[in-house]
Amino acid sequence: MAGFLQFNPQLRGIGFTSQRTRNRMVQRLREAGIRDYRVLEALSHLPRHLFLDEALAHRAYEDTALPIGLGQTLSQPYIVARMTELLLEVKPRKVLEIGTGSGFQCALLACLVEKVWSLERIEPLLLKARQRLADLELHNATVAFADGSIGLPQHAPYDAILVTAAAADLPFLLAEQLAEGGRLILPLGREQQKLCVLDKKQGRLIERQLEDVHFVPLLSGSRPVQATS
Ligand code: SAH
Repeated sequence: MAGFLQFNPQLRGIGFTSQRTRNRMVQRLREAGIRDYRVLEALSHLPRHLFLDEALAHRAYEDTALPIGLGQTLSQPYIVARMTELLLEVKPRKVLEIGTGSGFQCALLACLVEKVWSLERIEPLLLKARQRLADLELHNATVAFADGSIGLPQHAPYDAILVTAAAADLPFLLAEQLAEGGRLILPLGREQQKLCVLDKKQGRLIERQLEDVHFVPLLSGSRPVQATS
């Protein structure tokens, strides 16, 4: 696979956390039902602490969601692993992520698929994420400042689209950018959210609802650097 674990080895950060700490996290994910070995392997190497502010970095390998500033969160490793596992089932080459946040999910995808685009509406988060991906030398990931609910039509169709913020209703523009045989994975709902998988078969979307989830909302519009001071 093109990007499989091809990131800058100097940033694996084993000096910061032991491989044992990471293996424990992976073991917990296995116990929680994550089966895809590629996802488990990538998560055992990817330095999650680099995606957090220093004050929180020591908690990076706990199976918990953590704040990344500006009211946003880095999802719990279990849900990152679960969504990635669902995504790999359709053997995607081109993937679009909505909600770059810290860039962690995007980095994981870049380790596992050929090309990832990721969109973020809060510019300071996007800039930090871009730097982390560059430091890790994950050159097959491109992040852009944009309203993700519109998608990124210029590179469509995508084999898979992963939305990491909860949409109140199905974002039709994203569904349109899905290739035939492709898969859209997203949290759907307002207070009560369900993880949903939509498969495009013969131009139609077939929906499955999975477990309850908790994501920050998918908002419309974008918020540049100036607006955040
Ligand atoms: N995948 C991220 C976590 C996402 S948190 C990670 O691995 O860290 C959800 C992110 O979605 C937030 O950063 C939020 O700003 C972003 N978001 C919400 N609505 C959006 C929209 N319409 N377009 C792009 N990003 C959006």
